[in-house]
Amino acid sequence: MVFDYAPAPESRSVVDLRSSYGLFIDGAFVDATGPDRMKTVNPATEEVLAEVGVADAADVDRAVAAARRAHTAVWGAMPGRERAKYLYRIARIVQERARELAVAESLDNGKPIRESRDVDLPLAAAWFFHYAGWADKLEHAGFGPDPQPLGVAGQVIPWNFPLLMLAWKIAPALACGNTVVLKPAETTPLTALLFAEICQQADLPPGVVNIVTGPGATGQALVEHAGVDKVAFTGSTAVGRQIARTLAGTSKRLTLELGGKAANVVFEDAPLDQAVEGIVNGIFFNQGHVCCAGSRLLVQESVHDDVLERLKRRMAELRVGDPLDKNTDVGAINSAAQLARIRELSAAGDAEGAERWSAPCALPDHGFWFAPTLFTGVTQAHRIAREEIFGPVLSVLTFRTPAEAVAKANNTPYGLSAGVWSEKGSRILWMAAQLRAGVVWANTFNVFDPASPFGGYKESGYGREGGRHGLEGYLR
Ligand code: NAD
Repeated sequence: MVFDYAPAPESRSVVDLRSSYGLFIDGAFVDATGPDRMKTVNPATEEVLAEVGVADAADVDRAVAAARRAHTAVWGAMPGRERAKYLYRIARIVQERARELAVAESLDNGKPIRESRDVDLPLAAAWFFHYAGWADKLEHAGFGPDPQPLGVAGQVIPWNFPLLMLAWKIAPALACGNTVVLKPAETTPLTALLFAEICQQADLPPGVVNIVTGPGATGQALVEHAGVDKVAFTGSTAVGRQIARTLAGTSKRLTLELGGKAANVVFEDAPLDQAVEGIVNGIFFNQGHVCCAGSRLLVQESVHDDVLERLKRRMAELRVGDPLDKNTDVGAINSAAQLARIRELSAAGDAEGAERWSAPCALPDHGFWFAPTLFTGVTQAHRIAREEIFGPVLSVLTFRTPAEAVAKANNTPYGLSAGVWSEKGSRILWMAAQLRAGVVWANTFNVFDPASPFGGYKESGYGREGGRHGLEGYLR
């Protein structure tokens, strides 16, 4: 160790959390019908941050009714240029309150403040700006001369990018003239509830955005509700499958953004130091709680030892710890349940004969933590090469030829993303055409832009979010 970093904590005082939150229905915070409450904890300390309501079917019904009234009376008929003003206003308030929202996100989710500040918040604002720009141009978007909103959208999101996933869902829905009922994940409801305050601050007409907190049963009540015209879901493939079954035979429209097991393919001609940064970003960004994480490293055999040596050296430098410290690279695992899942799959890696190496780092005593880890000697049959771990665990496989790389990369039930590292443009283009993945990054990884469509092949789901394509799921 040549030098050490002094602590650089972001201040918690920039966020003023209430001890208790209700549901946000028809423009106001209201109590849930039932007596149940949920606690949301800081996964880095296990401290309780706030209590939130648990919405039951009756609450979901109230929220859908409010969304329907708002759609019929106000939002659906409002000219796009007027809707755009609200979306621009929301985007600006998100920017103005970015520091507060970033701290709230890191507290509730466990992700490093550097990421919530520099990735989640700028992208969330960018999503609202992007779709604000579409609101008055829908007739030029390629969906016919006079595309119409669907009505009420029921939206269910996961815990890994709470505010960003909210933005991906709400911004296009509102731009197209739909109203929404959104259910955030049970472990990360806080930024959605702060967003509800932002809707009030922006004078958004009551009922255009409704937020119902609760567990999976609340999400189920929402997707099953007869008054919902469109369901947008981001989460696990198992739940996505269940929702697809529920909606089959109904007139409801559905888009699904599900899991992934992306291959990050490093050829021998790649700039290796740059590739190592991309591998680290691909799997350790957001503790690996990323649907498009580069969780399978496919490295050409001739550079395997070299890449592994550089990668371990780099991983040993990762700073794991307090999410609110601006020096932190890897924060806390989002929940005890997720930590148990990561441990279980890692143990399966050991049992099946792969070799585990973890970065030598001290982990805090409280909270949920897992050291950045890689497995070598992984075969395609191993569970850690097939199942989504959704944590900071990389499975390393090798290949000799481009054809073998493609065969191994595509040997997965998923198809959300992939990465290719090579100096040859022709090879990158050839690989991109062969890979069965919705997004292929070349000499970079985990880069997002609101103008670029994102979505899966196969069990990673269907429909696209982002860009012009993202409008399609919300228009008739
Ligand atoms: P999850 O499917 O358990 O939960 C996601 C959301 O669905 C939560 O809000 C949950 O309360 C709700 N839910 C649970 N059961 C439900 C049901 N029966 N009906 C309706 N809603 C229900 O997933 P998770 O563990 O919270 O999230 C991690 C998963 O999400 C990973 O598999 C990851 O790959 C996926 N993900 C995908 C994307 C993408 O864009 N493709 C983005 C982020 C996360």
